[in-house]
Amino acid sequence: MNIETFIKEVEKLNITVTKENLASLAKYKDLLIEYNKKFNLTAIKSDEEIYLKHFYDSLTLIKAYSLNGNLKLLDIGTGAGFPGIVLKIFYPDLELTLLDSNHKKIAFLEVVIKELNLKNVTCINSRAESLPESYREYFDIVTSRAVAHLRILLELSIPYLKVGGHLIAMKGLSEEEIKESAKILEKLDSTIVDTIKFNLPIEGSNRSLVIVQKNKKTKEIYPRSYDKIMKNR
Ligand code: SAM
Repeated sequence: MNIETFIKEVEKLNITVTKENLASLAKYKDLLIEYNKKFNLTAIKSDEEIYLKHFYDSLTLIKAYSLNGNLKLLDIGTGAGFPGIVLKIFYPDLELTLLDSNHKKIAFLEVVIKELNLKNVTCINSRAESLPESYREYFDIVTSRAVAHLRILLELSIPYLKVGGHLIAMKGLSEEEIKESAKILEKLDSTIVDTIKFNLPIEGSNRSLVIVQKNKKTKEIYPRSYDKIMKNR
């Protein structure tokens, strides 16, 4: 996706694209390419692919949720910053927490935050199932792209949402995962309120945004350890 098409498609999402946004993205892209040589951060390497599969794709979250105001957003398994950093560039009022278990990715994100002069961003190098207690019932929105099956992601995310908060799971096809998540959704007192399906421009691959609402405070036993999540579905 070239820059002109990127602007056109992002504007179709009702997002205004400023010169400052584009300058930040260009700097981010250069850092990604530079650090990828040392740290193997992403398989997506060309400029056009980065603009489509990382930058544009991250912004599609807006189809599910309007991010205006100083909402608290957690990005679980953010990797090289997707979708979290891209959302922060366009919605600077977000109070953003980026979480990843891989310390090289967190080190890269700290460079990006400094170089792009992003404020009110916290990076945490931890597994989601061992986030500090202070984050329980804390976030308005949790998101996650390409990290885990929905059934697992629900347990890793719902405990950290406020009652009434939302998980926006960024998925390819999601029907099977939704079917396999019924039991855990009930245990976590949460409901899927909508699934927004669309195709990525240009190459047409399937995307879905699964929107889950937390209805009650989460029982203390969740999240269980990763072994238990995997064994005892
Ligand atoms: N969200 C990014 C994206 O879409 O480009 C990265 C996706 S990458 C395939 C998955 C990331 O999730 C990796 O960086 C990995 O370290 C992280 N991850 C996997 N399980 C995790 C867990 N339980 N807690 C925190 N991070 C996790």
